[in-house]
Amino acid sequence: MCLICDRIKMIQNGTNPFFVKELETGYVVIGDNQHFYGYTLFLYKTHNHTELFQLDKEEKAKFMEEMTIVAEAVNNAFHPEKMNYELLGMGDAHLHWHLYPRVSGDIGSYGNHGKGPVWWYPMEKMYSDDNRPTQQQLEQLKERLLTELDKLLPA
Ligand SMILES: [Zn+2]
Repeated sequence: MCLICDRIKMIQNGTNPFFVKELETGYVVIGDNQHFYGYTLFLYKTHNHTELFQLDKEEKAKFMEEMTIVAEAVNNAFHPEKMNYELLGMGDAHLHWHLYPRVSGDIGSYGNHGKGPVWWYPMEKMYSDDNRPTQQQLEQLKERLLTELDKLLPA
């Protein structure tokens, strides 16, 4: 079974507390852990394909365009120094973008003297229960992101 398909099922039956908005090609969700404040994911709607290059030309262009809109909304909502964009899939091959708002010092002294990808920060710290948002924080994250998404998307 696929964790992302499970989360999408929860969105569809109204039980995913992290869900922000449905776009044409995917779903916007807030990350479970918020060490990287504003961490957001954009989940492709189906598990039919596991590589970007497998999508047909129009679908691929739309998925990429929508990802950048989500990234811009995250940027506008949470004001990082830099956005990071990642599509990996060795855990769950379901197409999904990790959108990480980055600020100086956010991986401590890990990586190359504090510089490098988020994944150089220890997994147990990144996924610690300490940085799960409270209910109130989660509502605030979702509201801020949705406000910025709605400004960028055609009504
Ligand atoms: Zn899946």
